[in-house]
Amino acid sequence: MEENVMKDVETGVEAGGEDALVGNVNKLTVTPPGYPGAQRKGHLVFDACFESGNLGRVDYISDFEFDLFIRPDTCNPRFRVWFNFTVENVRETQRVIFNMVNFSKTKSLYRDGMSPVVKSTSRPKWQRLPAKNVYYYRCPDHRRNYVMSFAFCFDREDDVYQFAYCYPYTYSRLQHYLAGLERRNLPYLQREQLGLSVQQRRLDLLTITNPAHPSPERGKKLVFLTSRVHPGESPASFVCQGVIDFLVSQHPVAQVLRDHVIFKIVPMLNPDGVYLGNYRCSLMGFDLNRYWQDPSPWAHPTLHAVKQLIVQMNQDPRVNLEFYIDVHAHSTMLNGFMYGNVFEEEGRVRRQAVFPRLLCQNAPDFSLSSTSFNRDSVKAGTGRRFLGGLLDDSSYCYTLEVSFYSYMTAGSTAAVPYTEETYMKLGRNVARTFLDYYKLNTLLKDNRPTHIQSSDVMLQTGSGNGKTNTGDREKTDSEKERKSQGIRH
Ligand SMILES: [Zn+2]
Repeated sequence: MEENVMKDVETGVEAGGEDALVGNVNKLTVTPPGYPGAQRKGHLVFDACFESGNLGRVDYISDFEFDLFIRPDTCNPRFRVWFNFTVENVRETQRVIFNMVNFSKTKSLYRDGMSPVVKSTSRPKWQRLPAKNVYYYRCPDHRRNYVMSFAFCFDREDDVYQFAYCYPYTYSRLQHYLAGLERRNLPYLQREQLGLSVQQRRLDLLTITNPAHPSPERGKKLVFLTSRVHPGESPASFVCQGVIDFLVSQHPVAQVLRDHVIFKIVPMLNPDGVYLGNYRCSLMGFDLNRYWQDPSPWAHPTLHAVKQLIVQMNQDPRVNLEFYIDVHAHSTMLNGFMYGNVFEEEGRVRRQAVFPRLLCQNAPDFSLSSTSFNRDSVKAGTGRRFLGGLLDDSSYCYTLEVSFYSYMTAGSTAAVPYTEETYMKLGRNVARTFLDYYKLNTLLKDNRPTHIQSSDVMLQTGSGNGKTNTGDREKTDSEKERKSQGIRH
């Protein structure tokens, strides 16, 4: 998510008090203060000691109400957003109110109807809670923090219930997925370990291309995609899996793409942060998306490895690195949308707008009007900004953002909440858009075949398919700066 540190409103102090929480609750039975007896049914047991778990503290308010505290990111108490915990030992028909009381952000999609996700042992599919059971308000207690309260009625005594900020996508889930892909022995898929995290987790790199198809003299085009530098942004992993699923499929578009393009994908840039249940940082408390300029091999080893690879490829005349896309999730905006860079040269600016416009035609949840180009100094350490400066003018760097909550489609006023499936669908649409992009280029038979300069193309992609968000002009820098207050990525 986009970052604007100076303007962002942090409600908590940086250390001390409840922000100093370090561990997750571990099978914690919460009983009334001074309760002398043995544990009985209905004394809720909270747990977050599992992969991607996060819950730091529970305060008993009454038999029906509990204050819950997010465990801050490891080594960085400023970030408190992601939560993921289980509750068991419930009574049938037991009604409770849970108050999440220490969010580090004030702006939130909870104002727009977002709700936590829930599943239970007998109903293992994640669902969003009904929005009518969720309240987001400035609380007179808790240092006047914004508090998200939700009401819930337990219904099965033997079930373990799990609640989370959004659909979890863990490091282990990725490992299982990648192992499954490897077992298929696809001739056009290669998986390698690009490096290790501080806690020795794998940094995976996938290469998808048809090696049997001859390369042109100047080499195949290369698309580089990274995801999950911010560990709490789990929707990014569903989008990334959608991209991979499509590219390895037998879909005719995927086959053509594999013949002509090399895709390099790093699905989890911050595996420790994901494993630990952090929202934004690595194990050592670094927001890795601020260290692209000078990553350290010991403090930011995964970022260092990815940057080295990209710098190396960029120096290799046989490699045509044309796209870099970093996938994130956004906690205050709707839809999928992109951030790009600002360039002096007008032609480059227009060419950069082509891919988002094509994507808008393919993905009903992608918003062109939310797509913007900026040069905020606080974002200088992001992948998009750093690589935008490093790569030559035939390359395009974007951040792809997707809402934690929902999207609006054409002519509709109702927001449709994202599911795991619709996040993946956005990924499939991103992948197939590369064919439109390259087809357009070849058709134009320009001197510089990767560049689209024709204003016809812009009109055609802008006039659109009847969606409300097509045809919108991109916003200017200053408009963007006003709009992006308090926004991160
Ligand atoms: Zn982000």
